[in-house]
Amino acid sequence: MKSISDISNELGQVPEKDAVAAGVDWRQKLLARRVARSIPRQTDRNSLPLSFAQERLWLLERLEPGSPSYNRPLALRLTGALDEAALRNALQAIVDRHEILRTRFSAGTDQAVHVVASGCPLDLRFIELVVSDSAEGVAHARRLATEESLRPFQLEHEAPLRATLVRCDRQDHVLILVFHHMVFDGWSARVFQTELATLYRQFHNGESPSLPELPIQYADFAHWERQKFALQKPIKYWEGLLSGAVPLDLPTDRPRPSVQTHQGGCVSLILPENVANSLRVLARQENATLFMMLLAAFQTLLARYTGLEDITVGTPVAGRKWVETENLIGIFINLLVMRSDLSGNPTFRQFLVRVRETCRNAYSHQDLSFAKLVEALKPQRDLSTTPLFQVMFNLENLPESGTEIPGLHVEEFDFERPVADYELTLEVVPAGGQLKCYFTYNSDIFDRGTIERMAGHFRTLLEGILSSPDGQLASFPMLPFSEAHQMLVEWNRTEADYPRDATIHQLFTAQAARTPKAIAFFSENGNLTYREIDRRSNQLACHLLSLGAGPESLVGVCLERSLDAVVSLLAILKAGAAFLPLDPGHPPDRLAFMIADARIPAIITRRQWMPLVAGKDARVICLDRDKSRIDAQPKDHLIVPLGPDSPAYLLYTSGSEGVPKGVLGLHRGAINRFAWMWKNFPFQPGEVCSLKTSLNFGDSIWELFGPLLQGVPSVIISGETVREPAATVRMLALYGVTRIVTVPSLLRAMLYSFPDLGERLPRLKLWVSSGEALLPGLCRRFYEAMPKATLLNLYGSTEVSADVTAYVVPPTLNEREVVSLGRPIDNTKCYVLDAHLQPVPVGARGDLYVGGDGLARGYCNRPELTAKRFIPDPFSSLPGARLYRTGDRARFLPDGSLHYLGRADQQVKVRGYRIELKEVETVLLSHPQVLAAVTAVRKGRSEDNRMVAYIVAQELDDPP
Ligand code: AMP
Ligand code: MG
Repeated sequence: MKSISDISNELGQVPEKDAVAAGVDWRQKLLARRVARSIPRQTDRNSLPLSFAQERLWLLERLEPGSPSYNRPLALRLTGALDEAALRNALQAIVDRHEILRTRFSAGTDQAVHVVASGCPLDLRFIELVVSDSAEGVAHARRLATEESLRPFQLEHEAPLRATLVRCDRQDHVLILVFHHMVFDGWSARVFQTELATLYRQFHNGESPSLPELPIQYADFAHWERQKFALQKPIKYWEGLLSGAVPLDLPTDRPRPSVQTHQGGCVSLILPENVANSLRVLARQENATLFMMLLAAFQTLLARYTGLEDITVGTPVAGRKWVETENLIGIFINLLVMRSDLSGNPTFRQFLVRVRETCRNAYSHQDLSFAKLVEALKPQRDLSTTPLFQVMFNLENLPESGTEIPGLHVEEFDFERPVADYELTLEVVPAGGQLKCYFTYNSDIFDRGTIERMAGHFRTLLEGILSSPDGQLASFPMLPFSEAHQMLVEWNRTEADYPRDATIHQLFTAQAARTPKAIAFFSENGNLTYREIDRRSNQLACHLLSLGAGPESLVGVCLERSLDAVVSLLAILKAGAAFLPLDPGHPPDRLAFMIADARIPAIITRRQWMPLVAGKDARVICLDRDKSRIDAQPKDHLIVPLGPDSPAYLLYTSGSEGVPKGVLGLHRGAINRFAWMWKNFPFQPGEVCSLKTSLNFGDSIWELFGPLLQGVPSVIISGETVREPAATVRMLALYGVTRIVTVPSLLRAMLYSFPDLGERLPRLKLWVSSGEALLPGLCRRFYEAMPKATLLNLYGSTEVSADVTAYVVPPTLNEREVVSLGRPIDNTKCYVLDAHLQPVPVGARGDLYVGGDGLARGYCNRPELTAKRFIPDPFSSLPGARLYRTGDRARFLPDGSLHYLGRADQQVKVRGYRIELKEVETVLLSHPQVLAAVTAVRKGRSEDNRMVAYIVAQELDDPP
């Protein structure tokens, strides 16, 4: 039976509580509220127009001819002794009675019209199954029902109803009816069943069939509706309501095809009686209905999945407000758009009140056909999804089925219908005290597992809401314990041993003692052995100490990539200080800024670069000028007590506040990163690496020290050579380099210049790509050119010791797959969180946070910025544990690997350079004639990013 709350939803006028309080017979009250007779009957039955809803379906049918999406099947299981003749007669009587079931549709001259056949014998197909038992018969009937439900209609040429009777055995039949939605809706199904029962009984008993005469036919309604809703008022209302609404961009497992498909699947969830009752009680407390309660919870779920505070969901209403429509078969159902505002993180109770108002407003403007609304609002045409709303919610509010006819039990027959009208539909059906929730999803974009998890999240969310309805929406747990545990704990179980107490230079000294005569670096200006580097760096370190350098101090190095630079960096570390690389290739202003911002007391350079560093507040150590003083220092090993939590380097990166910011990296982070690589990609005898990244970038830390601390030689490739892909390839080939690290754009440049790269670099076996998103097309090209090498995608940032996740790209990766970021490396944790630091479900988009041993100390001399980006780790019980807020958007794939989704802010990468657009804009604005400036990134022809700037210039007083 229909419950009061359900009925009130349909009409949106009778709050449950009022009806209960009044103690009235709800049906009486309901009927009284129905609008009195007003739809006239048309005498001329030729060429009556389509209703708005029909017209929309008609157009959709034209767009996708033969699509079964708008078939509406109804299957009934008939148990007992079936009087087949009575059934046939009853069905025929219904067709005779309802003109719409005898109607074909014709394009007409300027609009489509109804074409009614006066007589139309119903063709009841009969199928007798030969089966061994009833279970087999039922299974077979299910398959038949599915098949039938998918068979398209030709609306211009055939009746919009097909009927099949399947005999499983003498006492067991299934009647499969398929209607086109143009003539049928959920309410029609009940009208149909009621009439079928009455007529069957009458025919069976040999009585003459009699049902009250219908006041009008469907086409009369269609005609009337078109006249009535020429008016604009409800359109204005909806226009206002929907302005600025954004499509609900649910995170999908696969990209949406450019034209929406309708392959569907369904996942069900049962809410037990106690939950259902509690939901009703909570609804009543806020003077809301069960419908509103469930809608509020569902919208909360969608908000948590999308991170949006403005959630739009569609919902059907019966659309049978006019009394003469009550017993008609036809499409009256209307769709309402429920747009809810979740801003300000309200409590659930507060939100429920908002939803109640949303619903009441929607109901009071429900007369306008959705089809008319779409036509009027003309939302931007996007065939990949539905207009105005993408997700549907419905609480089934029709009487429960199950009818007794003498000698026959009739009930609805469930079968699978692999069709999805919307991306996602949640339909809740009350069934004997329980609530059955059906999540129907488009299976071209969602995996079943994703929707199964979503159903679980809905349940967890409801339980949280019921246990504390005064909690804020963002605070409710949504992930079941096992899922949260998997994401937060199991996928972050990365603890591994590494030289936890060591410093970079200690590891170098130990290696130098093991292989003193081995060559550590090859370069265009000669080679250096471990012993030479060790001694020279000891001398320079002593010199630095004599000048006051030491732990927690900073020393700049203004040298190109060279043997001198290597010695200098090691010397600074040995003195206990941290180095600030000042690449002489960088603009002088930028160097001057870094020197001033970091307040460094000393800079190592050579005469050549003196002009870049002279005249600053820092003392200059000029390697060639001061050579004799440095050479006079002792060559022995020196010990400056230093722990792994001391800074090792300061690297500047673009700043969103208009100026660059320096990241203070620690020994521990670097060593953890090295140790992970050594363990997972161990060096083999004979390997050679290359140092080719500007020392100002984080990647150079691994390039320089990763091989050095393991006794593996590297070749130093100069800036000039790196700018020339051909020269670079020649160098790599000449020295037989086995590993290289590049940004994807350099990899692309090299692959495009040399499709035979694998033959030119036969020894190269590990290519690390990092710094920017790696696209599947490039990966495919890589493996075509270098089938014997491995491509490794590393993700990270300067703030987390360069790299924190890793993914070995499989050679079989196809172009539609995601190149994931992989999983966290050793002693590293990754979290994907929402704005309230709650984990988002697998597959949902969120902000990527990184914790663990790779974290930098913070930004140099910027405590507020450091506190903003390095936050206390809410998931760790270790004192002082922090997370770095990367600013990257990501999501977890079901296997625990991460999918990179771009930035949450204005930071961009252009050929591997990390740039804050704000910094560039600030500089542009500093020009006196620039009034306004905006910058953006565009894809160039070679797929590389390019930065473009637009300015508004002040008009010059004296035009030239
Ligand atoms: P940087 O500090 O220069 O290393 O830049 C860090 C930023 O580069 C990250 O926050 C990401 O936005 C981006 N990035 C680094 N590695 C990758 C990668 N493998 N895929 C996509 N983006 C990356
Ligand atoms: Mg990097």
